[in-house]
Amino acid sequence: MTDGVVVVGGGHAGAAAVAALRQEGFAGPIRLVTAEADLPYQRPPLSKAFLKDQGTEPQLIRPEAFYAAQGVDVELGATVTGIDRIDRTVTLADGRRLRYDGLTLATGARVRKPDVEGAGLAGIHYLRTTADARALRVALGQATSVVVIGGGFIGLEVAATAAALGKRVTVLEAGDRLMGRAVAPEISRHMLERHREAGIDVRLATSLGRFLGFRGQLVGVEPAGSTAPIEAELALVGIGVIANSELAQAAGLATDGGILVDSHMRTSDPTIVACGDGVVFDHWHAARRVRIESVQNATDQARHAAMALLGKPDPYRQVPWFWSDQGPTKLQMVGLSHGADRIVLRGRADDGRFSVFHFHRERLIAIDSVDRPADHMVGRRLLAAGTVLRPDQAADESVDLKALLSAG
Ligand SMILES: Cc1cc2nc3c(=O)[nH]c(=O)nc-3n(C[C@H](O)[C@H](O)[C@H](O)COP(=O)(O)OP(=O)(O)OC[C@H]3O[C@@H](n4cnc5c(N)ncnc54)[C@H](O)[C@@H]3O)c2cc1C
Repeated sequence: MTDGVVVVGGGHAGAAAVAALRQEGFAGPIRLVTAEADLPYQRPPLSKAFLKDQGTEPQLIRPEAFYAAQGVDVELGATVTGIDRIDRTVTLADGRRLRYDGLTLATGARVRKPDVEGAGLAGIHYLRTTADARALRVALGQATSVVVIGGGFIGLEVAATAAALGKRVTVLEAGDRLMGRAVAPEISRHMLERHREAGIDVRLATSLGRFLGFRGQLVGVEPAGSTAPIEAELALVGIGVIANSELAQAAGLATDGGILVDSHMRTSDPTIVACGDGVVFDHWHAARRVRIESVQNATDQARHAAMALLGKPDPYRQVPWFWSDQGPTKLQMVGLSHGADRIVLRGRADDGRFSVFHFHRERLIAIDSVDRPADHMVGRRLLAAGTVLRPDQAADESVDLKALLSAG
């Protein structure tokens, strides 16, 4: 490979991709081209510790010296605007063209924005990048009333942080429960109680109507179908993300709500692989097409993508896992619970530490844990090993899950 590998996107997947290429023995040129001004950094703290402390700096995934030591040429603030698959070149926004033998698309995702009246007012925030987080942190320091649109992970993490900082916080969630697409109803109920106890006014089945402003500045949020506005100096919108797949699509690669890859992270062009939040793939376990948003997924997929580019394809079969810190509570999810036909509880919801085991036709497919890290850790191993666990065993705390793992 004389022209080497170009990696587009410097998030968790892009950073892992360049490291994996070297770990797998690739000695040719590597270029990491990323639109952001920062070297790849950890996104999860942006909705957690970073917001609480004005002095905290973003944590780099790898120190700056890593890239020089590994011979990785990093282009910050550079956007790839086109891919020419015949010439094997990418075009940057400044007109330069970079040749590649292998291309890795790690373009991730961007925030979804609501198309409602007042959406352009100052005081409305989103959270994806360090720039977003810095602006939100400053605004949080000054605001007294905060409205969070969206009761998903990011919205609830920010809501919990804002409440801990003494702000008056309201959360609007369009669905009938919190984190409805991601966790079991028992967890949604439990977290609803925890957030309400922390003083957050959580309103379920309540959609955003419009933002209200005065002289260009946000002053309130009006729920849909309501004439009772909620006072808001600051709004944080956390209503999901959109995969950055337009670049791939324009180059004629297959997409389906994300860049479509096979089990080896190969796109429909054998010289181009893709990984992370921006890709969709047919999940071996869930037997459906998914797009997964997690650090684990981005990092693990990047390694498999690197192996495919280097002619050592190895199917991606890691069990997905994810976490969310909401105030003092830690949620940990492993597996994909979609399609579960039975759930059982281990531990008791009323003492605040429990796990929900999801089964499909008596087969364990996912575990959601609330402050039960041991269940999560053993769950990862149970799911990876495909260990048979019956629902009655999952519910029975006298059954030692680790012992089951060793037995079989
Ligand atoms: C606030 C926040 C909190 C989170 N908390 C958690 C958590 O607790 N646990 C967890 O597992 N996950 C969490 N996540 C999700 C996790 O951060 C993502 O799954 C992960 O960042 C995905 O990595 P990625 O590299 O695929 O995409 P991204 O991180 O989106 O990175 C993609 C990069 O590509 C760049 N790019 C895109 N297009 C181009 C182009 N054409 N040219 C050049 N560059 C381009 C983008 O600017 C971006 O820098 C959180 C995310 C956020 C935003």
